[in-house]
Amino acid sequence: MSITWNHFINGSFAPPASSAYLDEFNPKTGDAGDKIARGNADDVSAAVEAAQVALGPWKARKPIERGRILLEIARLIRANAPAFCAKEAEETGKPLKMAAFEIETAAQYFEYYGGLAPALHGETISMGPNYHAYTTREPFGVIGVILPWNSPMNQAGRAIAPALAVGNTVVAKPSEFTSITLLQLAEMAVEKAGLPAGVFNVITGNGKEVGEPLVGHPLIRKVAFTGSVRAGREIGKIAADRIIPLTLELGGKSPNIVFEDANLDLAVPGSVMAFTLNTGQVCLAGTRCLVQESIYEEFSERLAEAVRKVQFSDGENFGLGPVTTKAQYDQVQRYYGIAQEEGARALVGGELPDKVGGWYVSPTVYTDVKPTMRLAREEIFGPVVALMPFKDEKEAITIANDTEYGLAAGLWTSNLARAHRVAAQIEAGQIYVNEYPAGGVETPFGGFKQSGYGREKGLEALHHYTQTKTTIVRL
Ligand code: NAD
Repeated sequence: MSITWNHFINGSFAPPASSAYLDEFNPKTGDAGDKIARGNADDVSAAVEAAQVALGPWKARKPIERGRILLEIARLIRANAPAFCAKEAEETGKPLKMAAFEIETAAQYFEYYGGLAPALHGETISMGPNYHAYTTREPFGVIGVILPWNSPMNQAGRAIAPALAVGNTVVAKPSEFTSITLLQLAEMAVEKAGLPAGVFNVITGNGKEVGEPLVGHPLIRKVAFTGSVRAGREIGKIAADRIIPLTLELGGKSPNIVFEDANLDLAVPGSVMAFTLNTGQVCLAGTRCLVQESIYEEFSERLAEAVRKVQFSDGENFGLGPVTTKAQYDQVQRYYGIAQEEGARALVGGELPDKVGGWYVSPTVYTDVKPTMRLAREEIFGPVVALMPFKDEKEAITIANDTEYGLAAGLWTSNLARAHRVAAQIEAGQIYVNEYPAGGVETPFGGFKQSGYGREKGLEALHHYTQTKTTIVRL
């Protein structure tokens, strides 16, 4: 049965000013599902104004009290995990086990930043006996959070938990393809965890009609955006006019480098995971697999064999789900064609699978790929890997860095000195050695180059959600 969802503004559900609604779709069948409110600038204004009213009392709360509410949100996410998982799996198409992993990570963001809320502090600065100078870290005010569809709850927790922990209030815009779990989270936070009304609001709808007015609203003091380079650039222009700070978490075409001294029993399954996790719809996916010449043939055969064994999920267990949107389904197919035109050879996949219904694509391994091909340079956001050989460390680093992106990179080697040496020369925000991906809520994450700027996760994110004030007192 289809449910119709409204915005969540100032602690309650509110219908859209336009009275219009958008369909969400079930990626496992392609059929229309629930409806979400089609927001516009009036809805954005109502939410931002509510967040502005809520700001004063929220930032005046003791940090330990804010933290306690975030810890309660974490507890409630875990207590309601089966319901969140079911909805997230329905909206994104991902297997329930994958959804469970991401819902748990969302809980961990609230737990981590809830615990850190009272730990943030400033410094005293020595200026001699006649002065007392010190810094404090203050929230920006109302923060706009704009999210993509690939890991909705996980990415929401990543941005919203640190923003709230330090005393900001939030107006969040989920992807129009996967909006519902965020509405449920906001309702639960206010109704059950004791978050004051207006501190966390959600406006649904598309990028032009909701995202742009959100970034452009005069009371929004910072934007945290996760999504494509295209949208990041458009948002950056509005933010530049308004002189507000941005965190941009954008796309990637990350290298995954396998040296001849790697343990292939780990590197082969690890490299499969690097590009098939979440059906390849992961910003940090290792989609350029660079393999040392001396093991290229053996590694390619073993990788192909392992990829042939990758199963479609039954909806419950790990395995490939469908891609989440029809546009993404079309995009992966477009790249099958581009690869063929460019002369790459599919060792596995390269065409749609023999599976009826839904937006399912094949895990695909291409060989004979040149670093100059579009296949090696453009983000596909599906389970497609481009294999390329390299001679030595120097060439591996050159190919790895020959990209406009710089989100993540993987290295497989048993030589510790090489691991550190190569890691130091790769232009990327996160480097994984002998596992892909690695890290947790504690490890700062974000891009070099066109993969964005600012950092989410870890202690560092708290600095991106606060601004420093320095007070100098003449004694
Ligand atoms: P997208 O940029 O199309 O949309 C992301 C969000 O921005 C959506 O909520 C959308 O409605 C909104 N939006 C679109 N145009 C806008 C505009 N002009 N102004 C304001 N808002 C706008 O991206 P997507 O298709 O949802 O997600 C896939 C992309 O996200 C990939 O490039 C992927 O690599 C990237 N991504 C990055 C990270 C990261 O942490 N770096 C994580 C996940 C996804």
